[in-house]
Order: sequence, then C-alpha cells, then structure tokens
Amino acid sequence: MASRISQIPGDLPFHILECDGCGSAYECFDATGYDLDALVASAREAGWTTQPHHHCPRCAASELVAA
Ligand SMILES: [Zn+2]
Repeated sequence: MASRISQIPGDLPFHILECDGCGSAYECFDATGYDLDALVASAREAGWTTQPHHHCPRCAASELVAA
C-alpha cells in the first residue's frame, strides 16, 4: 500500500498517497488528510485506483489500455 505519513511537528500525522506507477502524490490539505480511509475515498473520487495498486488517474488510464 503506497501511502506514507508526513509528520508535521506539533500537528497530527498527515497521510499522502503515492502512485505506484509514476510516484506522483495525492494529498488533501484539509481534514481529509488526517484520515487514511477518507483520503483513499477522496482519491478514488478523483480518479485514482487503490486496488490492487495505487495509481493516479493517468497511470490508471494506461493500465486500462494495457489490460
Ligand atoms: Zn501515476
């Protein structure tokens, strides 16, 4: 699962999704970023795929073409 946590000193852990294909990051700079499940749901709405890999919309599109 390609997610990492950006820890800001004095703040809550902040989740970031990373594309397994190109490495681009999906982050939400509101309360969504504090909750991994909410962040994943938000990313899926933005066109990301999260199963079986984390892929940004661009890589997800090329994955469909390849399949
Ligand atoms: Zn990508």
